[in-house]
Amino acid sequence: MRVFAWRAHRAYLKIAFSKASLTIFVYRALIMSIGGSNSGGPNGAPAGRSDRGVSMVDPPSPSAKAAFDPEFTRASTPVSGGKTGPSQTSANQANTRAILTVDTEEEFDWNAPFTRDQHGLKHVAALPRFQSFCEEIGAHPVYLVDWPIANDASAVEIIGDAVRRGMADVGVQLHPWVNPPFDEEVSAHNSYAGNLSPELEAAKFTALRDRIEEAFGAAPLIYRAGRYGLGPSSAALLKSAGIAIDTSVRPLFDYSDQHGPDYSAHPIAPYWADAERTLLELPVTTVYWGLLRQLGRHIHRAQRHFPTFFAGFSKLKLLERIALTPEGVTAEEAIRGIDIALDEGLPVLVLSLHSPTLAPGFTPYTHTAQDVDTLYDWLRRVYLYLETRGVRSASVAEVIAAAKQ
Ligand SMILES: [Zn+2]
Repeated sequence: MRVFAWRAHRAYLKIAFSKASLTIFVYRALIMSIGGSNSGGPNGAPAGRSDRGVSMVDPPSPSAKAAFDPEFTRASTPVSGGKTGPSQTSANQANTRAILTVDTEEEFDWNAPFTRDQHGLKHVAALPRFQSFCEEIGAHPVYLVDWPIANDASAVEIIGDAVRRGMADVGVQLHPWVNPPFDEEVSAHNSYAGNLSPELEAAKFTALRDRIEEAFGAAPLIYRAGRYGLGPSSAALLKSAGIAIDTSVRPLFDYSDQHGPDYSAHPIAPYWADAERTLLELPVTTVYWGLLRQLGRHIHRAQRHFPTFFAGFSKLKLLERIALTPEGVTAEEAIRGIDIALDEGLPVLVLSLHSPTLAPGFTPYTHTAQDVDTLYDWLRRVYLYLETRGVRSASVAEVIAAAKQ
């Protein structure tokens, strides 16, 4: 019996690997692996809101999905090429807006252990070029600044100028390891602010928020936890500080093996993070692309059980995750990702990059001046494409005003 079973199994695998029936095999693997995963998270809590009400680490309930004023999302008329034929591109237009979030932070060695002081701010000199380029292509940067940036006179001057002219926004990005008070051990675990005690998370956040308000002359309204490190107390903290938008959720990414949050079951569409509908979550846009796209989330869950088998999917182009960032994603891929997001009716696209990438030599993405030029080319092409799809940039205030409670 064993021999027969093994032969049957081998024959089955052979068939399974032929392209036509691969999907069937995947379905079967899923049926085996999903099991309890729809009914609960890793600690057995039901998916959705916990009893304590507002842990942003848990996926929201479907009813939390946010709606926007149709005037806000309405597609613009394309102007490129001077062609304004009435029905020419209307079918191609999408009712979506875009923001460009910039994790504006110190340069540090991304591969070394975290430190309090091994970092620099040399790339700040590259910010003026970036800001004027954004103004040229119609991008609206949202500078999510952390403690070293908020305490750097040059960065405050450059960003503050753009904010005062209405050409950019400033928000909060908490890197706890470089942000006072320094009461915790520096470690990978403590690099996620959500892993700190609620008191220490609040103390660091408040020091930074107040510093930003002082430096830029306006209360910040948008937040991103460094390393996407939300915790069970983050929502209450952000609400009490008057933050209206959080953009710390990175759907389809699971950081739990590095002590971080698991966002693999979070939606990509904006939603209300609290029952009162005062804290809007704008997830960082990531989509699945590939033949197995519809199965993406399930495959990622199944991957925990069959890691080696599923690891090949991305290579085979059957399943790829596309983040809307020039960091490690080509313009072609990003445009494909934008198409998928627009197809899914996403009201707001959240693009992202890290400010040290704007100068060569500080992040894994730009080693040379030519790499930086390639990044600018990426931005130009992507924003030109957004324009052809009728997608305009939005400011933080516009997003807040248009979100329907
Ligand atoms: Zn960061």
